Amino acid sequence: MRLLPSSGWIAGLFGRRDRALLAVAASTQIPYRQIAQLTVGQLRIADGAATITDSAGVDHVLESSADPVLCGPCALVRWRRLLNIPHTKTRMSDFLTDAKQVTPASHHPCRQPKPIDPRTLQVALFPPVDQWDTSRCRDGRSPPTRCRGWYDRRKPASPRIECFPSTSSPQP
Ligand SMILES: [Zn+2]
Repeated sequence: MRLLPSSGWIAGLFGRRDRALLAVAASTQIPYRQIAQLTVGQLRIADGAATITDSAGVDHVLESSADPVLCGPCALVRWRRLLNIPHTKTRMSDFLTDAKQVTPASHHPCRQPKPIDPRTLQVALFPPVDQWDTSRCRDGRSPPTRCRGWYDRRKPASPRIECFPSTSSPQP
């Protein structure tokens, strides 16, 4: 967890995702296949705790850690913030380039997370993206027509930028 980057384009993207994924895998009993099917709407974060409701309706609670670098709820807040960026005026690359590395002296966003756009609740919590530009939308449509969210909206679409998760229901 301490070695994962939380800033920089695009290292921060995958560092944040991996930190959030590790937190969920280490702190819950949710099978990996089900983790891949979770949506942002199944995650609630408040007062320093994250609660994930699985497909059976069972709540899995991730408690806060004193160290923000190791705090699972913080990892999920920071990752969810990236998933919400397509519904803001912020560019993903700018956000991550300007972001500060999470350190033991960082604050705990899990205690008072910023609200997210309701549309983000429908997207996969861990969408199938990878840094080698081989990602595909879950519905199989091509990134330029379907996966615009991760693109910088003020720039022409770059073939090096990966796609945004489909807003449709994730497939197993
Ligand atoms: Zn925290």
